[in-house]
Amino acid sequence: MRKLLIAGNWKMNKDFDEAIEFTEGISNRCGAVDEVDIALFPPATYLKDVSRITEKNYIVVGAQNIHSEDDGAFTGEISAKMVLTSGCGMVILGHSERRHIFGETSGFICSKIRKALNSCLTPVLCIGEKIEQRDAGETERVLDVQLTESLEGIEILSPNEIIIAYEPVWAIGTGRTATPEQAQNAHLFIRDWLVRRYGERATEIRILYGGSVKPSNAEDLLSQPDIDGALIGGASLDLEKFSDIIDIGIKITGEDK
Ligand code: PEP
Repeated sequence: MRKLLIAGNWKMNKDFDEAIEFTEGISNRCGAVDEVDIALFPPATYLKDVSRITEKNYIVVGAQNIHSEDDGAFTGEISAKMVLTSGCGMVILGHSERRHIFGETSGFICSKIRKALNSCLTPVLCIGEKIEQRDAGETERVLDVQLTESLEGIEILSPNEIIIAYEPVWAIGTGRTATPEQAQNAHLFIRDWLVRRYGERATEIRILYGGSVKPSNAEDLLSQPDIDGALIGGASLDLEKFSDIIDIGIKITGEDK
């Protein structure tokens, strides 16, 4: 049984007071929710304060990035140990904005995944194709390359150790969402890839969908058999919208998806 995970990636948004207000709000509303998992990925400067608010409830806090080294002369970077000791349990790695704006390669992402796993942080590995790649019928090839390079030499002991997020680049922050069928097809491809790579236990690895998820499309997406949750950018900044998506996840779980 794969429990749905509803995760909010705030990116570089919210000032400190807004971050605290949101975290208190979501904790009051959803801190006791056990039917689905909930995770918040605030900017690094808020991790400790957000974690203090959520430490007595079920909401998990994660970082948006880490470096692959433990420490050293890496101005502006943040290490696994820093986020771990700020209360994090997860870290997003390979987000398309890191790949395409900051030029992160799959090789670098792979070294960060190794660091996260060795630090008992659950990596959320993001992969996804650009629009021209989808239009050229290259989606599966791109996903195959990203998975192969990002997970090179990475072994996992249990399916809970890692989470994959399928995030078509053309759907991130654009308001354009993959259809449930497009998303399900990509998730099934990823699931089959993981089973070939890691064996049957990989059927338990969660695969999230990300790309303009909002209350109006969440039910159709989360109902798909191989979609195990959502990584949400824009809509996760709004308490009402984020809570509504959590409620949709609870409803789908209750219907025994
Ligand atoms: C994201 O940042 O991972 C994302 C999916 O953003 P949005 O929901 O805004 O498309």
